[in-house]
Amino acid sequence: MALRLYNTLTRNVEPFIPLDPDTGAVTFYSCGPTVYDYAHIGNFRAFLVSDLLRRWLESPLCQRVDAQGEATGQTGYTVHHVMNLTDVGHMTEDAALDGGGEDRMVVAGRRLAAAKKSGALPAGAAVDPNDPYAIADFYIQAFKDDARVLGLKVVADADAHPQSDTLPRATAHIDDMLRIIASLLEKGCAYVASDSACYFNIESFPRYGALSGNTLARLRAGAGGRVQAGAQARKNHPADFLLWKPDPAHSMRWDPADFLGEARARSLNLREGYPGWHLECSAMALAGLAGSAGMIDIHSGGEDNIFPHHECEIAQSCCYTGAPGFARHWVHARHLFVEGAKMSKSAGNFFTLRDLLAKGFEPAAIRLELIRTHYRSNANFTEQGLRDATRMLERWRRFLAAAGVQHGAQGDAANASPSLRNIALSDSAQAARDAFTASFDDDLNIAGALGAINTWIGKTAAPGESDTALFFAIDNVLGVLDRPSLDDARGSLTVTVASAADSASRASGLTDAQIEALLNARTAARAKRDFSEADRIRDKLADAGVEIKDSPKGTTWLRTAKL
Ligand SMILES: [Zn+2]
Repeated sequence: MALRLYNTLTRNVEPFIPLDPDTGAVTFYSCGPTVYDYAHIGNFRAFLVSDLLRRWLESPLCQRVDAQGEATGQTGYTVHHVMNLTDVGHMTEDAALDGGGEDRMVVAGRRLAAAKKSGALPAGAAVDPNDPYAIADFYIQAFKDDARVLGLKVVADADAHPQSDTLPRATAHIDDMLRIIASLLEKGCAYVASDSACYFNIESFPRYGALSGNTLARLRAGAGGRVQAGAQARKNHPADFLLWKPDPAHSMRWDPADFLGEARARSLNLREGYPGWHLECSAMALAGLAGSAGMIDIHSGGEDNIFPHHECEIAQSCCYTGAPGFARHWVHARHLFVEGAKMSKSAGNFFTLRDLLAKGFEPAAIRLELIRTHYRSNANFTEQGLRDATRMLERWRRFLAAAGVQHGAQGDAANASPSLRNIALSDSAQAARDAFTASFDDDLNIAGALGAINTWIGKTAAPGESDTALFFAIDNVLGVLDRPSLDDARGSLTVTVASAADSASRASGLTDAQIEALLNARTAARAKRDFSEADRIRDKLADAGVEIKDSPKGTTWLRTAKL
């Protein structure tokens, strides 16, 4: 038996077969947080669903399969997991209108300025509310703090490999986005309208709607009323969506000439602006994960990402790569309700992780409560549920204590060897292992998996070493017992002061990522012997206080700007 997973695209529970089964590698992209506010527990539910799936794929309890879906006898995939950070300030009305409403980064700046004034910002948090990059840094730091407390492995990956692009920032991939836009324009899959904005031409992709059911026929002109009347008039089809928008008022803007070269940007009629939200995820998934075939194994998000976000990602990615699809499996977590109601600030049931820690709930219980409803059901997060989760944890800790395991606040489960080879399990432990495995293989049936654990524990008065080995293998999937204690978690929430290097980069007006992108463009220009373009980029960098040095080993740069 092996994993069967619901695929939103096919609307079926189907065998999970990786694109490249021989290598044991799985490519997995998760839509991450927007970083103009703290993530709330509903956001974290979706992130934890991705984390749970990833942990299961990596587990030595998970059977790998070959291209026919037959078990290979090997266990545990190597998961290449990427989660993006949406740090471009998108518009408050973006879900309904293309670029309508107000820049969310500006809204966040106003909120932070008010918090600063009232003393509500954490001690030591220095953030310039007028600097969109500083605002993004502030909330990225907060997100990572929360994610570490809740045990998101993708953030642990990024911590362990800071040079990797595990948590890519949209602002660092503008070059990838413009490359896609240029290609789509050249293929006739996109156009620049009379308002100078670049839109994707959905009629160039007949399969539009396959994921969400919102097909071209259903989205015919006028239907849905999703588009502002003014913008609608400028678009060929009302559901054409934004790829690039020139807007002198937007807090973050890039000049396409810096990435595509002046001649190409001018010939494509692309002006200084900012990217559409959907495009960011395609660019980062393709850059970070997709091989030459242009596809990834799994793409996940919350159910509200299905339309328009993921539908649009599929259309632009497939038109760009020419591949038959974008992700093979689409996984969506349903909503989180709190005390039976939709979370809202006005109803007083809106919680961040920080709110729950302040109420005295421990991280392990919060994680368990957030994962213990099946991902395709709406979850109802309640204080009673948190108390029940706490009781379940206490039982598990008593079980480990009975086996002589002194479980510290953190680390034991993570450090325990997950290898289960050559371990003879008792009949009840073997039954628990089989039932737990069968449950996870059945579209991540978490209730069945928890039931298997609790039944086994109830029957095992004197657990031994083999029981603890199995328990740790199971907990490496659930990710619960190695969460920090409440006190450690509270102490770890440090939204830190922006570093001097970051401040220096902002003083020069260019971020590290923007400088790297310009250097790449310059290298490409030199390779094509377009020396006037290469010199133009060098001058632009010099103007921004960045000095570059060419050597046989490549190009290095340093800032000459003063703080
Ligand atoms: Zn996304």
